Amino acid sequence: MAFVGPRPLSASQAQSLSQATKMRFSVRPGWFSLYALRQKTGVAHEAESEHDKEFIYNETLKGDVGLMLRYSIGSLLGGSSPLPAPDKLNFFGVEIVNTDMMEAVQWIGQQARQPQNSLVAYVNPDCLNIAYRDEDYQQILQQAERVFPDGIGIHIGCRMLGQSLRANVNCTDLFPLLCQYCVDANLTLFLLGAQPGVAEATAQNMTKRYPGLRIAGHQHGFFAPQATELVIADINASRADILIVAFGAPQQEKWLAQHRNQLQPKVLMGVGGLFDFYAERIPRAPRWMRDIGMEWIWRLMQEPKRMWRRYIIGNPLFLYRVWRQARTTR
Ligand code: UDP
Repeated sequence: MAFVGPRPLSASQAQSLSQATKMRFSVRPGWFSLYALRQKTGVAHEAESEHDKEFIYNETLKGDVGLMLRYSIGSLLGGSSPLPAPDKLNFFGVEIVNTDMMEAVQWIGQQARQPQNSLVAYVNPDCLNIAYRDEDYQQILQQAERVFPDGIGIHIGCRMLGQSLRANVNCTDLFPLLCQYCVDANLTLFLLGAQPGVAEATAQNMTKRYPGLRIAGHQHGFFAPQATELVIADINASRADILIVAFGAPQQEKWLAQHRNQLQPKVLMGVGGLFDFYAERIPRAPRWMRDIGMEWIWRLMQEPKRMWRRYIIGNPLFLYRVWRQARTTR
């Protein structure tokens, strides 16, 4: 065995592998695997063979001492003892669905075919801190059809409550999978939000990346309040199935809740700063940082003035509130 490599399998597991995944035998199995690390931090969204493939084709990962270090950090943050994983999690009265990425994408796809529209939200510790003191936002989250967990903070919070998070179902990782799903299921998207040109660049990049993807329309997020009716008319005229709104939390959820009855797309989803990443306006954290749940440090370094309060004060405050919730529940 090597230190790092694909997870070792039992003889029967190895025998039951499909031909396509047998490439994992071209390298030695390892004590530390990329897949196991990502499982710990909830970001192993693809099949195990995809992570193995990445390891096999990426020369820098072979014999990588850094991967061992990352694995240790991942174990520390993600925990190593198995805890119960209930279907619903609850932080300060906000119910979060505990699921994996593929189920989340499929659920969104199915909702896009329903007669009634569904409100979908993603929450990170910052959003939950806002919901703690903003009753309107809290109520909107309580009434949303689904709230998904975003980020390592929720993972740690879960463990403090004696539960485990199945996956970090954040919208940035979900978006490309949803685009692929939309191609396969013939669903269309409308992108609303971010600075002028950003939603448009996102649409261009994603249609290049996913041939056949249909973006029914896009609109920046800095329109005057008087233009709201026009924007809604545009969205409805596009006949998009899924509306993705990137105004940041909680504005996007409030806007969606306020106009829910006028909006015709069947899925209404708030996604924060997502378009800035996919338009390549702001670079996303490198994969190794995301693997150990440190994407927030990257964002803090990029925009310290805007983000310091959110992370330096917000993260400990969130953990303190979860600790208090854990004590009360017990
Ligand atoms: N934004 C917008 N309209 C506004 C204010 C903000 O479209 O009136 C956009 C902004 O350009 C950015 C996103 O909303 O793309 C907010 O990003 P942020 O990183 O704050 O969101 P988070 O993911 O942290 O919720």
